[in-house]
Amino acid sequence: MWRILRPDAVRVWNLEEVRDSLRWYHMVMRGERPAKYLICKKVALEIDKPLTSLSEDALWKLHREASSNFKALWRKTREGEVSLEELSDPKVSYLDLKVELAFRMLRKCEFCERKCGVDRLKGEKGFCKLDSNSRVASYFLHMGEEAPLVPSGTIFFTSCNSSCVFCQNWDISQDPLSGVEVSPEELANIMEYLRREGAKNINFVGGDPTPHLHNIVKALKYTDVNVPLLWNSNFYMSLKACELLIDLMDIALPDLKWGNDRCALRLSKLPNYFKVVTRNIKLFYDSEVETIIRHLVLPSHLNCCTRPVLKWIAENCPKALVNVMDQWHPDYLVARYPEKYPDISRYLTEDEIKEAYEEAERLKLRWRAVS
Ligand code: SF4
Repeated sequence: MWRILRPDAVRVWNLEEVRDSLRWYHMVMRGERPAKYLICKKVALEIDKPLTSLSEDALWKLHREASSNFKALWRKTREGEVSLEELSDPKVSYLDLKVELAFRMLRKCEFCERKCGVDRLKGEKGFCKLDSNSRVASYFLHMGEEAPLVPSGTIFFTSCNSSCVFCQNWDISQDPLSGVEVSPEELANIMEYLRREGAKNINFVGGDPTPHLHNIVKALKYTDVNVPLLWNSNFYMSLKACELLIDLMDIALPDLKWGNDRCALRLSKLPNYFKVVTRNIKLFYDSEVETIIRHLVLPSHLNCCTRPVLKWIAENCPKALVNVMDQWHPDYLVARYPEKYPDISRYLTEDEIKEAYEEAERLKLRWRAVS
């Protein structure tokens, strides 16, 4: 059925630049290689004490060592030199360590760059208004994502660490109590169900998935389903959160919207935006996480945002696919109070869309296949 709805989801794989940019993702999607999180489960930790008895500093040291062991095993797996079936399950794995660290971080939450420092296990809440429980608003096979991702097994988590005045998912992102509570075990069942139904990937999104990092990482303990994992986020994570995610995610879908901090603060309430988000995208990219970067073109923001964003991508992530998105429409607070946001309270003009595409072309970005 999905082939009829999106024939481009098949045709896109004939394009050399897509195959080159998404080589690993393509192999996992087709079941020819194991997803990275399954490799993490095979990386053994050399310890003689329980993880719970170690200090956080000691855990991070172990994490760095395990990460380099992971990378060696991943590269061999990628090149077909090792099969996971040949390896036994360790007593304590790299994934167990990630779970322990995620729950330690939750006690003074620093999943995102806001670093609220609240103890979410005790029920305290920071900017995202979430305690330790995760709620899911919906999950389904998404047919509207970029062609290489369709059908995408999308899980929409509630709440967000950002507050965009134009949010198109505001009913989910601004209401932490929407949806239903899911445990890590239930999340694992959802992943398995979506793959069975034909999902090419598991797409963690919201709102934003970052505040749910602990439950997502823990869910991976309860399944062995082989499916690429996709981090679909505003990428405003802390460095530590990036470290936890990089060896787990087979593909990243960062949203790079703002080309300067002034626009980001006024319209998304995100301080220090450009430095944080570009730092994180570059970190994933340099760690060989295959990437499709989304840039939503906003009216009146061509010079302050679109041009610097596309320039940054060309200079820093030349192999990433880029979705130059033209589907802007005024929503949420912008639709309610257009007089407060005169720059974006209208639709894009044809000239603005054309200029954005021309800039992507001029910079030789890989944008045509996914825009
Ligand atoms: S996820 Fe971010 S916004 Fe939410 S409590 Fe943690 S640091 Fe604060």
